Amino acid sequence: MQYYSLHNPQLKVDFREATILGQAPDKGLFFPESIPTYSVEEWEELLHLPAQEMAFRIMQPYVGDTIPAATLQKIIAETLSFPFPLVPVTSSLYALELFHGPTLAFKDVGARFMSRCLGYFFQSHPKKVTVLVATSGDTGGAVASGFLGVAGVEVVILYPKGKVSPVQELQLTTCGQNISALAVEGSFDDCQFMVKEAFMDADLQQHRQLTSANSINVARWLPQQLYYILACQQWPKQLPLPVVSVPSGNFGNLCAGLVAWKSGLPVHHFIAACNANDSVAAFLQGAAFSPQKAIATISNAMDVGNPSNFIRILELFQQDNELIRGLVSGYTISDADTKATMERVYRDYHYVLDPHGAVAMLALERFLADNPSEAGLFMATAHPVKFPETVERAIGKQLEMPAAAKDLIGKTSYSVPMAADFLLFKSWLLNR
Ligand SMILES: *Cc1c(COP(=O)(O)O)cnc(C)c1O
Repeated sequence: MQYYSLHNPQLKVDFREATILGQAPDKGLFFPESIPTYSVEEWEELLHLPAQEMAFRIMQPYVGDTIPAATLQKIIAETLSFPFPLVPVTSSLYALELFHGPTLAFKDVGARFMSRCLGYFFQSHPKKVTVLVATSGDTGGAVASGFLGVAGVEVVILYPKGKVSPVQELQLTTCGQNISALAVEGSFDDCQFMVKEAFMDADLQQHRQLTSANSINVARWLPQQLYYILACQQWPKQLPLPVVSVPSGNFGNLCAGLVAWKSGLPVHHFIAACNANDSVAAFLQGAAFSPQKAIATISNAMDVGNPSNFIRILELFQQDNELIRGLVSGYTISDADTKATMERVYRDYHYVLDPHGAVAMLALERFLADNPSEAGLFMATAHPVKFPETVERAIGKQLEMPAAAKDLIGKTSYSVPMAADFLLFKSWLLNR
């Protein structure tokens, strides 16, 4: 499989190059040159395979011959190493819980898959590779955990000091080994700026192989298709084909689901569930796409004003806006409605939602109210314990800590203090 740059279809690379580069040299996103399709019978078979075998069959064409089959099998076993249960909330509405991984958020799957692919590609590479990540909270933890102990790869995470939650900070700073956390005196934007400068710096490029682990990387984006297939594997036979509601920010997750649909996965309809950052929801309702400045909300992992993966959705449907609008419905959910949903769903169904899941569930309820013969599922992308203040206020009781969060308490936390200054950051990197 080759991947082309969305800025220039002539510029093609294989999966290895696309993963190492992250983005094409012309700054375009990489896109697979063809999407494998499967017949109804083949899907019937795929939906009955054990998760890891199914995942191998789905991912193999995307990886091509850049990773040997036995290695890919091992990478998949390490990626899907926790459960993905489909839990009923009502008789026609289910939650696909994607938060049982090591950092309690769905980004674990993409981060684990990508880290192990890079680890394989750099096994025999003369230069050590350094992964640079700026994080506002969730991504850094998933990347740190994903890369922990992967030989040949060093990870440097920049986070805004004092601006991530306590659980998130522990996830970033307690790894040790090949993971360094830099507590930057500044905002997330400062962190992102320092990382972008590093990628453009000739001295650094010469000194070490730099790469990024952000969500536009194909090795993080494409394995997210597996959620949708895992959902269909568990979907009750007696119900109509599912409507799938996805809490969306950068739109990598939803776009991966649409790739699976293109491959023939039996999903009936999709919902783009957005908070106040709703440029794509507005597009789906008929407006022209108009990116906005990000607005802060209580579902903060979705606070993206100009989603990078929107352009991939357009490409997947050859810019046929009406086709996209027929398949995907967009909803905007306010913070007030998000809180009210967490409270109501706990009271009426004893189900605890995190703010991101709450946005997706309410969007799905609104769709089902207008389409009462349908049934659906939403993606529960983060564990409620990652947002304890908001969730505990809404449900009126304390949350139980899952083991993955309990384990962090008492671990040694270490971070490097860093001013929001690129030259200081550069000299720190050069002196390692
Ligand atoms: C990253 C994230 C999202 C948004 O996913 P995208 O693929 O960027 O649309 C939703 N929920 C949680 C908890 C996240 O961490």
